Amino acid sequence: MLVVKIGGSQGVALGPICADLGALIQQGQKVVVVHGGSAETNEISARLGHPPRFVTSVSGFTSRYTNRATLEIFAMVTNGRINTLLVEQLQKFGVNAFGLSGVDGRLMMAQRKEAIRIVENGRQRMLRDDYTGKIEQVNAALLRLLLEAGLTPVIAPLAISPAGEVVNVDADRAAAMVAGAVQAEQLVILTNVPGLMRNYPDENTLIPHLPRIGLEQALSFAEGRMKKKVLGASEALDLGVSKVIFADGRVEHPVLDALAGKGTVIS
Ligand code: ADP
Repeated sequence: MLVVKIGGSQGVALGPICADLGALIQQGQKVVVVHGGSAETNEISARLGHPPRFVTSVSGFTSRYTNRATLEIFAMVTNGRINTLLVEQLQKFGVNAFGLSGVDGRLMMAQRKEAIRIVENGRQRMLRDDYTGKIEQVNAALLRLLLEAGLTPVIAPLAISPAGEVVNVDADRAAAMVAGAVQAEQLVILTNVPGLMRNYPDENTLIPHLPRIGLEQALSFAEGRMKKKVLGASEALDLGVSKVIFADGRVEHPVLDALAGKGTVIS
């Protein structure tokens, strides 16, 4: 079982990724795909006159400030456009892809963070109208049902709260939870850099292999949203995934290269 997370950053091309996935699935590999969409959500929000806002929590993580209007735009972009186009590409490569978000069939259950403490201009304050959540449970039976029917699930990063509210979740951490739930051996996280760099953006400092115990230190040199990927990697390993690979989504064979060990292999 393989879980592949496809980032939404500039340069990541869906064609080569889907071609690789098509080849693997034809050979009998079971795959679950999770995707993001933050870059495109930023662009479309701005075009809709609702520019994105990001907040930094007291623990130093940056996330999208998601009020109800933002949530709806996020859903429109990720579960609408990105998910459909990804399913389309996979179908072109002979994969019977099935698009859904974590809301469908309660695939991903998340606790909504009712209040988050943020730091703004050096001062702390509480945000209360935010619709983001942390995934607590994945409906693995639903994924197994789809896989057994010969379908390849393609998951958009939305989840549902126990109260039935849609929440925005981090796609890297969602991929980690999904990988744990389906007992994947490997989780490949494709993005627009060759892997984790000790001294970003100096590509000569790419870390080819990171032992699990190095993850904590890695949090200190991963900046911005890269921190979420490091956190996701750590969560996936905790859930029994043997290997997490951060790899370049812009190359000719993004998935095959990653499986061959190119990028940052965390195990
Ligand atoms: P995606 O949309 O693919 O999930 P993100 O933009 O969220 O990707 O995260 C990947 C980005 O993280 C890279 O484009 C890079 O700018 C940034 N980054 C920050 N610190 C590092 C680091 N130490 N090594 C590699 N990339 C880093």
